Amino acid sequence: MTTLAGAYDVALLDLDGVVYIGEHAVAGAAQGLAAAREQGMSLTFVTNNASRPPEVVAEHLRDLGVPAQAHEVVTSSQAGAAILIERFPPGSEVLAVGGPGVDEAIHAVGLVPVRAGSVARTPAAVLQGFGRDVAWVDLAAATVAIAAGAYWVATNTDVTLPVPGGRAPGNGALVSAVAAALGRGPDEVAGKPFPALMRASIDRTDARRPLVVGDRLDTDIAGARTVGVPSLLVMTGVTDVAGLLRADPAERPDFIGADLLALSAEPAATQGDSESAPRRDDRGWARGDARTELHDGRLIVTPGEGPWIEALQCACAAAWSAAGAVDVAAAADAIEARRRTVGP
Ligand SMILES: [Mg+2]
Repeated sequence: MTTLAGAYDVALLDLDGVVYIGEHAVAGAAQGLAAAREQGMSLTFVTNNASRPPEVVAEHLRDLGVPAQAHEVVTSSQAGAAILIERFPPGSEVLAVGGPGVDEAIHAVGLVPVRAGSVARTPAAVLQGFGRDVAWVDLAAATVAIAAGAYWVATNTDVTLPVPGGRAPGNGALVSAVAAALGRGPDEVAGKPFPALMRASIDRTDARRPLVVGDRLDTDIAGARTVGVPSLLVMTGVTDVAGLLRADPAERPDFIGADLLALSAEPAATQGDSESAPRRDDRGWARGDARTELHDGRLIVTPGEGPWIEALQCACAAAWSAAGAVDVAAAADAIEARRRTVGP
């Protein structure tokens, strides 16, 4: 059996909802990443969250039991600053909106970060990223600067962020506030699903066979598809079973896992004719003793006694094979119930 860690040389790992949620480690994350490294896989941490500099992210990872160095962390602030230094000469002023990671990334490429309140003239550009302390004055300064001609790069447009107990507004929600005031969106977006951050991560690691690992369909998985890289969706973040079964064709992962232990276990492919994909017979799709069938546009699942992820694999294969809309509600409930019974 070839594991994902054996088949792919570099994992491009999302963080929020994959390795940690807020302050806390995701169950199985440290163990899963250690096992993947033991099998020869390199790890690069790729985050749309622009607020913290790479060294702070690496330190957080080490606190959670995941060995990590700053050079193994690629942020959307860095990708955003890389876009700006291609357009503007070194020394140009850039209005920084977001946490300290935004200023540090601007400074690191040779541009000059300025903050709301200390803007003497219209800056060349605005780099807008997430920060817990972003205030109305920051959004106001950005709006005024952009209206006066500053080039507007958003680090990312994630509308929500996972927090313990639910979701909170992400950078996309704050970008939308500025966009509402201006009547238009950003000139460019660096983070997933746009290609700048993914390309920067692949370039940095010299990956030959990278695998994107994430928890969001519309950023991680869509971003992987944009740059033509295979992807693993882990079910520890914002995507639930029903959401995955309803995924748009452009946002469907190649592999799914309950958590990061999936990297070092037998792969669970969602489609295709590989050994790790559900097998098709005249009644439906099967994997282990899990089965799914389609009846009059309704998805019916029999989870069986094996790992719940096998039932989800079969359900994805069935739901995604249909040309029209599929009613996945009852199947999703059955899989979620199996997941609660057996745990991850
Ligand atoms: Mg995430």
